[in-house]
Amino acid sequence: MRVESVPLSGPSPGTTRTLTRYHWGREGARPKVYLQGGLHADEMPGPLTLFHLMNLLDQAEAEGRVAGHVIVVPLANPIGLSEWLLHKPVGRRDLEGANNFNRGYPDLAALAGDALEGKLGPDPAANARIIRAAFAQALAEAKIETEVDELRIRLMEVSHDADIVLDLHCDHRAVMHFYASTARPDITDLLGRCTGSTLALIEDVSGGNAFDEAHTAPWRALRDRYGDAVPQPCFSTTLEYRGQLDVDDTTAAQDAEGLMAFLAAVGALTDGPAPAHGPAEELPLAGAVEYMAPIGGIVSWVTQPGDRVTEGQVLGHVTDAASRQRVEITAPTTGLLFRQELWTSCLKGQGLCHVAGKEIRRQGNLLSN
Ligand SMILES: [Zn+2]
Repeated sequence: MRVESVPLSGPSPGTTRTLTRYHWGREGARPKVYLQGGLHADEMPGPLTLFHLMNLLDQAEAEGRVAGHVIVVPLANPIGLSEWLLHKPVGRRDLEGANNFNRGYPDLAALAGDALEGKLGPDPAANARIIRAAFAQALAEAKIETEVDELRIRLMEVSHDADIVLDLHCDHRAVMHFYASTARPDITDLLGRCTGSTLALIEDVSGGNAFDEAHTAPWRALRDRYGDAVPQPCFSTTLEYRGQLDVDDTTAAQDAEGLMAFLAAVGALTDGPAPAHGPAEELPLAGAVEYMAPIGGIVSWVTQPGDRVTEGQVLGHVTDAASRQRVEITAPTTGLLFRQELWTSCLKGQGLCHVAGKEIRRQGNLLSN
């Protein structure tokens, strides 16, 4: 195991932060698998799972079972981790500009696409190497203005050329689920069976250039520009490890075992555990519909994440006790109620829950802010 402490230049005199990256296996070995947690810095199931995974990786390395190159960044956002306001972690957005820490990653196809003109031949594997080198060059030359810009580059400089990128998040209250593109359905299936995810939300391009998409969308864009000689070598996903309060060692240790099974299944480890679950249900991200609160008030549920619901079914209530008014929260589509908001009060117009169905109901930018 090799550990890197990467300093981030401080935003103000006298301050610095450090990003810590861990490596197992040989540099240059394939597959290269990159895992990070805590990019939204109020989501701790992922970092705790990675803590347990790192112990398992130490053991695997001692037994000579690491065949690929595995990188773990257990706390990917030291900026967000330090940002508390009024005794609560803020986590999702930076306090300077209120930008979502998981949006706006560099568009590598836009940055590197022109440099590839005339350089690609008929061999997809050779082209993958050429493209990855161009991505590395683009990241090395990327303009860094803020501390958050620098964090984004320091994360991507080790992840951009990975075969597999797993970004561990969590939701408010939710069943285990993940987001994936259509690029590598074989790996999507494998990930579901190794992690025990209930749901996989599938979409070619979700919009917003989240960290996971910043690793898959460029290959798609380059294929559109240069054709089939551009391979699709990277599988990248955002995994939602249930809800924000689902943080305990028993669950995290089981989840780490699931990731060991996945690492073994993709060839990064030898002799790992077998997948222990059935496949995740795959549904279109554009079929996941949010219910918005019609009034502000107290939120109470008669359902919970994981329930199968039909359109119009009562899921809970919003109660304005001051005016003695109560409205029903109803299922916006038929399918799986996979997440609910954590808070027990809401503002008018606030999203309260999502139901994932088969029917396409949305288009455009498919991720919430
Ligand atoms: Zn998140």
